Amino acid sequence: MRKRRIAILGCTGSVGTNALRIVDSNRDRFEVACLTANSRADDLARHAAAFLPAAAVLTAATDRPCGLPAATSFHSGPDGILAALEQSQPDLVLNAITGAAGLAASEWTIRRGLTLALANKESLVMAGSWLMPMARATGATILPVDSEHCAIHQCLRGEDRATIRRIHLTASGGPFRRRDLATFDSITVEEAMKHPTWNMGPRITIGSATMMNKAFEVLEAHWLFDLAPTQIEVLVHPQSIVHSMVEFVDGSMMAQLGLPDMRVPILYCLSHPERIPFDFQPFDPVRWSRLEFEPVDPVRYPSVPLAFEVLARGGDAGAVLNAADEELTAQFLAGNVPFRAIVSTVRDVVRARPARPITCLQDVMAADADGRRLARELLHAAP
Ligand code: MG
Repeated sequence: MRKRRIAILGCTGSVGTNALRIVDSNRDRFEVACLTANSRADDLARHAAAFLPAAAVLTAATDRPCGLPAATSFHSGPDGILAALEQSQPDLVLNAITGAAGLAASEWTIRRGLTLALANKESLVMAGSWLMPMARATGATILPVDSEHCAIHQCLRGEDRATIRRIHLTASGGPFRRRDLATFDSITVEEAMKHPTWNMGPRITIGSATMMNKAFEVLEAHWLFDLAPTQIEVLVHPQSIVHSMVEFVDGSMMAQLGLPDMRVPILYCLSHPERIPFDFQPFDPVRWSRLEFEPVDPVRYPSVPLAFEVLARGGDAGAVLNAADEELTAQFLAGNVPFRAIVSTVRDVVRARPARPITCLQDVMAADADGRRLARELLHAAP
């Protein structure tokens, strides 16, 4: 059997390192074609020494890292990712880059009709209206690494999409599910960084506290599964055991369950359409016999109604949303804006800019630049 050649973009983050652990346990099936990292040269060199990719990339550095194997070509800068993909010719691209920086690699993969294991949900948030028709035209397969969408993908195996009544995306509710709303103005960065169930990078952890991450997932589900906004429900489920559910027209409900472990959706995507064995901590339904579900409180989580507003605006509104949220999250982490200003400012930015259609990557990047600029303008104008 020919090994599946995998490019792992963002190999030093949480998804990337978990993917490497999976590849390491299945070296008879997978080989690493390409590894990319932002700036962690030592980690990149260490992973490259262990997996011997044809190409390695640092996007925020120019010097070849010490210890990079001689047989591995080195590329640098934001364009280095596409050069490394061209050179290494992977079968499957795992895009685990954070934020707008991941879009170009998603486009590259989809345009070539390859398999995209997508952890960079921003690609679809920003440009779903452009990428999904492209995927249909090239025959590219997009597999969601995002645990909720991976759950839905599994529930839909063998099903006719026309029989979906709606989906229920679950959300942990983040660290402030029970916090008194009157104290939201005193939320610190440290408090927002404490996710109750998942261990992830800073952007997505803050996005879980604001639930902007779930807002992104609403857009992601809309594009991935071709669902109308009225077919997407969000549900708070603090245990993060039911990863999401699909309700069918005949009243049947399908769910995928498991402990919160990103290796499960990563392995699913890397091995799809097969299922291969792996030594996970087993899920014990008796121990987890109390599963709770609550509706989303739109006052506590204004990001969720904002997602539906962005869907209604259409066009490039998602790219503006993502750009503004990247800007506000960075400002919050730097201690420059209060927690509640993240979503309220992002909403102001989205409402301040009329949506335009997307026809090319430049259109998306123009919306991205507008979103960042408007966010900075609104922050400077704030009293
Ligand atoms: Mg998710």
